[in-house]
Amino acid sequence: MRAASRRHEWYAGASDVGLVRPGNEDAFLMEPPLFAVADGLGGHRAGEVASTVAVETLFAHAPKHADAKGLARAVRAANAAVIEAAEQGRGREGMGTTLTAAMVEGTRIALAHVGDSRAYLLARGELVQLTQDHSLVGDMVRSGTLSAEAARVHPNRSVITRALGSDPNMVADAFEVEASPGDRLLLCTDGLTGMVEDAAIAEVLRTAPSPKAAVARLIAAANDAGGHDNITVVVVDIGADRSREDRTSAATRGNPSADAREPGRSPRRVWLARLAWALALAAAVGGAVLAARGYARSQAYLAVVDGRVAVYRGVPGEFAGAQLHWLEQVTDVPVAGLDPVTAARLARGIRVDGVAAAFDLVAAYRSQTARESNPSAEPTTAP
Ligand code: MG
Repeated sequence: MRAASRRHEWYAGASDVGLVRPGNEDAFLMEPPLFAVADGLGGHRAGEVASTVAVETLFAHAPKHADAKGLARAVRAANAAVIEAAEQGRGREGMGTTLTAAMVEGTRIALAHVGDSRAYLLARGELVQLTQDHSLVGDMVRSGTLSAEAARVHPNRSVITRALGSDPNMVADAFEVEASPGDRLLLCTDGLTGMVEDAAIAEVLRTAPSPKAAVARLIAAANDAGGHDNITVVVVDIGADRSREDRTSAATRGNPSADAREPGRSPRRVWLARLAWALALAAAVGGAVLAARGYARSQAYLAVVDGRVAVYRGVPGEFAGAQLHWLEQVTDVPVAGLDPVTAARLARGIRVDGVAAAFDLVAAYRSQTARESNPSAEPTTAP
């Protein structure tokens, strides 16, 4: 376990043993822009070894920027390290861990995820679960044979179908999300989500005045509900990075128009200084827009147009008032046929590396909708 050694108000995290377990096998990491939670499995303290090795290896291999592919590579390195640790007699054979990792850069969030820990985004007041549980009950919820509420109390709810520490070829889910300033990211282990309903989690995230307060309230809620498992929670306020704000205010102090308040300067000099500042700013913004346009042309993302998956070249949103995206194609894949997490992510735009990758993803969605519209491919009732 890693204690929260640094306190910045835009993020906070904590881990609590709960009220039943003899020890804490969860671990978490807060090294901005990187955040992660891990839930170790194996018992007899082996789970603690697995989760700690996982977050430490993740940190050592993390990319410099919010890049989902780079983050997925770091998770693969963490998987190899957990397997190697067991082989070398640290922990024990069969130990494993979940790992849910996020890199936050401005409003961009890159995620990589394995297991049944979760990432949520409180987006404009609405709670969206960003990750899919790799668990038996998660699969049943997705296939429609079990409700989310029944899954929370199902006897096999702790059976996970993917974890670090067993399969050297394990693949992490990895994707990027464009959030908005004021959104709140939550990473947590199942000690929270197994005890507290989503509606109550959303209410805490909506009303807590700071990430630190949100973390304390979420852990208290899980313990009030029985605290059956270790509880680990990390909360990050999007667009509230202090180090970024400090850089911005330093730049503002250099603004020549601030000289207007200085005594002894003639109004004409002040006016000229303002004009020079405005021209310099216009040139900088113009240059930046051109540079951004060049970058945007190499990028692509998926979004929703008329209920169908659409491929855009470029990046979502605006930059300095300019739109940097161009509609490539509205595909024949209906959003209604996709799982709710993918649909929610599509509504916000799913960024990918280029148009070819976008069409690859569309092909995967098309086979998903084909599977789900073919009733013989899925059991109609629970066994
Ligand atoms: Mg757990």
